[in-house]
Amino acid sequence: MATGDGLIARLLPADGELSLAALAAIAVAAARCGNGVVEVTQRGSLQVRGLSAETVAGLERAVHAAGASPPAGPPVHVGPLAGLDPAEIADPRPLAAMLRDRLAAAVTAAAPAKLAIIVDGGGGFGLDGLSADLRLVAVRTAGVPAWRLETDDGALTPPLLPAEAVAAAVAFVAGLDRSQRKRPRPRVPVVPVGVLIDGAAAGVVVPYGFTDAGRLADLAVAAAGAGATRIRLSPGHGLVFVGTGSAGSGAPAGLGASPVTAAAAAGFAPTALLAAAAELGFIVGPGDPRLALSVCAGAPACGSGEAPTRALADAVVAAAAPLIAEGGSVHLSGCAKGCARATPADLTIVGRVGSYGMVRDGRAGDCPDETVPPEALLAALALVRPTG
Ligand code: SF4
Repeated sequence: MATGDGLIARLLPADGELSLAALAAIAVAAARCGNGVVEVTQRGSLQVRGLSAETVAGLERAVHAAGASPPAGPPVHVGPLAGLDPAEIADPRPLAAMLRDRLAAAVTAAAPAKLAIIVDGGGGFGLDGLSADLRLVAVRTAGVPAWRLETDDGALTPPLLPAEAVAAAVAFVAGLDRSQRKRPRPRVPVVPVGVLIDGAAAGVVVPYGFTDAGRLADLAVAAAGAGATRIRLSPGHGLVFVGTGSAGSGAPAGLGASPVTAAAAAGFAPTALLAAAAELGFIVGPGDPRLALSVCAGAPACGSGEAPTRALADAVVAAAAPLIAEGGSVHLSGCAKGCARATPADLTIVGRVGSYGMVRDGRAGDCPDETVPPEALLAALALVRPTG
């Protein structure tokens, strides 16, 4: 995709999972081939920015060489703790793999270019908080787990056996066309952060969804030092690290070795990993005020941006501290499109021809209550308090 700072490459490896070595290799390639900015999106994909027509092939080669080639066909998301969460109804990864294979062979050119498909095994870190064109949701039944097809508007089928569910999903996707596509309903994902699953995993959030490639490579090195071996991209700009035992179990909840025991046996030290991640500036706990801010690329990185965003993010969080401390949410958007947040925020700051509109309890596309010049923005934020 082309945008204000060049080409963007988006990568979703199978099950959102990469080795640490692959993450480090992609970070190095991002610095060499792009402008050094790497993003983890709200939906949990990896993005490399600032590529050019001449350099994009170099990144592609690095991704393949790292063993991180994305599967063919439309992206199919699973939860970041798939196969690890004891509360999960079923491990979604085998079904997702089956679905990817079938979709790669069957999806027609008429299908929407950007499809959002989710296979959700449930549990504490399921994907109910992500919107989708189609979701296959695990359902508890007397025998093997079954899967129900849903859209954001409700159920499409009764619970089905895996092969039936995949066939129904392929038929549903093949029947979609661009003109019929409805905009998915906005939702708010659960963000896994901190020590997870009794120490089997550790969740880190990339502040505001972007970081420089060198810092990401440093995080991969630190994670390896703490005994992690794999990383899973997660909704909410997250990176979930797991150890050898925890990553490889793949057993449904209640069957086989405990992932916690296996991770401990493999020497995975999540608290050490989180300490190193905090040193590098990543978010490691749910109380971090930076989690309250949703921010898009803005100007000049996005060609549609009407004002800068990311360069102001830390200052906005500091200035809006009174609002955030009382649980308020803030959305900083480069233009009225509002890519970073579809749901209303307590305060939305939206770029308008070089100035900033301020919208209370609304979205980026709503009419601002006031508009302030850039030099007056931070002072204006300090005065904002939650309504009600
Ligand atoms: S909201 Fe506007 S400025 Fe921000 S990423 Fe979307 S199009 Fe670009």
